[in-house]
Amino acid sequence: SPFVVAIDGPAGSGKSTIARLLARKIGASYLDTGALYRAIAFYLDGRSVPPEEGEPLRCALAELTVSLRGERVFLGDEDVTDRIRTPRVDSIVSRYAALGPVRESLLDLQRSQSRLGPLVADGRDMGTVVFPEADVKIFLSASPEERARRRWRELVDRGETLTCEEVLFQVIRRDRIDSDRTLAPLREAEGAFLVDTTDLSVEEVLSHLCGLMKL
Ligand code: C5P
Repeated sequence: SPFVVAIDGPAGSGKSTIARLLARKIGASYLDTGALYRAIAFYLDGRSVPPEEGEPLRCALAELTVSLRGERVFLGDEDVTDRIRTPRVDSIVSRYAALGPVRESLLDLQRSQSRLGPLVADGRDMGTVVFPEADVKIFLSASPEERARRRWRELVDRGETLTCEEVLFQVIRRDRIDSDRTLAPLREAEGAFLVDTTDLSVEEVLSHLCGLMKL
């Protein structure tokens, strides 16, 4: 089976930036699994389906088709890629991501991405649940303050007006929900390389990983 690099870590740890660059470097595809959870949360929130198991959730999920075309995420025929990185989605996504039916609905789509060729996948449970047989497992971390600063810069670049403190509050809250949930909680996979990116530039993280992977 093709080569898989599984990258996990909390919000703002640099996963998506690093995963995308690493994928390009090794000629692999890049899978952003957070975008899939964001798309589902965006959909359910838009239909006022509460984040709890039950009939409304089951029906909504049965009607929903999430798909990928390259790095774009679709709900049915609609490209939602640019609408899922908002403070609103940030504040609700973890509640939906904690639900079994939501996680199960995304398993096949995620795993199928590794059948096409080499893959770098990032998320919360890449090394633990989705790709337990991954060739390389990496866990990225950084201090909450640094992670909030990174996320804040991204949001401000998108034209959002909010303070770094608000983002810090949100990042800490999201990590707590992602780490405390029963299903696929945010954890370092066994055998993962742990990299603290707090004081490292993107280039430094990348070259460190290439060293670990003997590239
Ligand atoms: O990576 P990103 O911050 O975009 O992920 C958004 C949210 O999606 C996370 O906070 C988490 O609740 C959920 N998620 C997950 N499992 C993954 C990827 C993301 O539960 N593999």
